[in-house]
Amino acid sequence: MARRALLILIMLSALYPIPIEIGKRPRVIVRDFYHINVTLDKNGYINATLTLTYYNYIKDGLREIYFHIYPNSLYFRERGGEFKLLWVESEGIKLNYEIKGRDGSALEVKLPCPLPYGDRINISLGFIEKLPKMRDRYGMWKGIYALGNWYPIRAKLIGGYWDTRPYANIGEPFYSDVAIYEVNIKVPEGFLVGATGRLISVKRIGKWLMYSWLAENVRDFVWVASPYYLRLTKDVTVGGRKITLYCYCLPEHKEGGLRALRAADRALELFSKLIGEYLYPSFTICEVHAWFGGMEYPSLIMIASSLLKSKGKGLEIAIAHEVAHQWWGMMIGNDQGGEPWMDEAFAQYLTVIYFEKYYSKESKEVLDELIRIPYYNFIKFRPKADDRPYRSVWYFDSDVEYYIATVYDKGALVLRLLRALVGDEKFFTILRKVYEEYSLSIIKVRDFINLASEVSGTNLTGFFKDWLLSPGTASFSITNLSISTFKHKYLMKGDLIEVKGNKTFPLPVTLTFSSPRGEVRITVPFHYPLTPFKAELPFKPIKIIVDDDDLIPGKDGIYTYPGPLTKLASTVN
Ligand SMILES: [Zn+2]
Repeated sequence: MARRALLILIMLSALYPIPIEIGKRPRVIVRDFYHINVTLDKNGYINATLTLTYYNYIKDGLREIYFHIYPNSLYFRERGGEFKLLWVESEGIKLNYEIKGRDGSALEVKLPCPLPYGDRINISLGFIEKLPKMRDRYGMWKGIYALGNWYPIRAKLIGGYWDTRPYANIGEPFYSDVAIYEVNIKVPEGFLVGATGRLISVKRIGKWLMYSWLAENVRDFVWVASPYYLRLTKDVTVGGRKITLYCYCLPEHKEGGLRALRAADRALELFSKLIGEYLYPSFTICEVHAWFGGMEYPSLIMIASSLLKSKGKGLEIAIAHEVAHQWWGMMIGNDQGGEPWMDEAFAQYLTVIYFEKYYSKESKEVLDELIRIPYYNFIKFRPKADDRPYRSVWYFDSDVEYYIATVYDKGALVLRLLRALVGDEKFFTILRKVYEEYSLSIIKVRDFINLASEVSGTNLTGFFKDWLLSPGTASFSITNLSISTFKHKYLMKGDLIEVKGNKTFPLPVTLTFSSPRGEVRITVPFHYPLTPFKAELPFKPIKIIVDDDDLIPGKDGIYTYPGPLTKLASTVN
């Protein structure tokens, strides 16, 4: 299993000694350092300067550095957003730059001279923006200003090339390293600001307020501001550590805000126990007007107004999902655009686990409503759609339904199947190991497959090839049934077969035999394409159901004895 090389020890400054130890392997990681001063006015105009201190651990003689400038993407410009880069310099020397990427969301900054390996450079940029009027993670709507992905963020290399992949409306087309941010945010008086990290101070400057934030070990810095916000605060203990929860919401949604805080507290506590320590000093929920339910950022999530207003389970589902992202996507980084399964499926399935832990009875309901019904409906109505969960966000264009059904929902069903295959103990060990090895770093899907194989003691490459990298489901049924009596018992024999599907990795398949006198379940270690089984039963069954809990996605047989009625049952009733 490939492991990242030991990086060289560097102290960023006396203020920010960075050596950290992750898991058992001591690793020293160099962090980018962003210092940003930004002013937002009531009309949604932004004026900012940003200085990035960047350490070159890419190659000797680095000639350029790329940034993502998402506010300049065609998507936002077409919707009334504006982004203008005013200047780029390094220590007073003007630098050449070029706007790149097919939607204009990439920026190449040419360095004044080749940067040696291990050396650092300060790059400063001045820019102005106009927020588009839209209900989104970046935009303004009815007095709430959402500042997601709003500043030039350093790009990463993919296969030796700078990442210039465009912005995408659905999903999170983002891929970044953890960094340290010092951000001074100036807003008109009366505005409240929620942001990533810790609020250090608030100062009044004439008719303005300056909020100063420090955020360490985060992949991004997001903020949300509004003159209409009410701020709710809750001090809690998460995994033995004290942290502060904030909710910024409209006063009329206070009740929803309080429910959101309670759900966040419970989700943080559960996931820190199941996966690993929550590393940030605070967790903030910000109400926004949005087309989505929730949106994850480091130590801050955006939640749609409509959910804070509603009375149903939707709010708690969204909070659990977005809190799970604090581990999957935020602390444990991944290529969220290229391999969204690596964070979305985990956030989705951990939402079910949240309901399983806190409301055991409702977990099946949440599993069905959130995941199974949408997925099965999708494949029913769009049978020709390729449903493999391993896809990039760009593949789906703007087809949100397709994206959610495959990457999130089928993706979560793959994790549920993995859990059934390896058992609870190993499944949760896998999650903890991912955290130990990859927290504040980046995990690729291939690393996950290797790690899951290592922990489970089984080579799972074939499993993930079947379920993540290939489309389709698997349907099982039974055939050649015979029954005989034996010492007051019934001996039932038959063959379990795969009737439809393209899978090859052997899986355990449950058979449920029932009669008014009771129910017996056996698990058959199924090998493709056919496996004989035997069951000793204290009664003569009248019904046999294959894969009753639908652990293996796909329609399976229900056999009414004595036949010959064999049919493939609908997986969702
Ligand atoms: Zn998500």
